[in-house]
Amino acid sequence: MNDTCQRAKELGAPFNCQICGEEERLMYVKDRQELLAHHRLCFSCCFWVERFFRHISDRTSFIVEGEAYIANPASRAPRAHRGHGGRVFRFHTKDGRIVISSDVWHQGTVPDQFRHLLPDNATLGS
Ligand SMILES: [Zn+2]
Repeated sequence: MNDTCQRAKELGAPFNCQICGEEERLMYVKDRQELLAHHRLCFSCCFWVERFFRHISDRTSFIVEGEAYIANPASRAPRAHRGHGGRVFRFHTKDGRIVISSDVWHQGTVPDQFRHLLPDNATLGS
């Protein structure tokens, strides 16, 4: 048994996630293991809980048709290092803003269990 497995066992793994019910085996770095074990969350649900808190405090967090994005409108990164290779996105928010960014990162499809916390807040337009 390696150190990661031993530590996971000490933290009570495997266990079932309190949100989605999937089994979590805690095969991550120490800090992540401890966080997941403390909250009894799987890696995915923990990501979306954290993503929710970012969403409510970050005006460049967008949910479009159930897909999560983070935009960096002030990016100075070289085009090759930008999200989507520097493609320009125009987010039209439900509160009337238009946010244009050539550094946008897709973060995945919001799982069904989180759609009520992360509803669509924008559309993509030109
Ligand atoms: Zn889960």
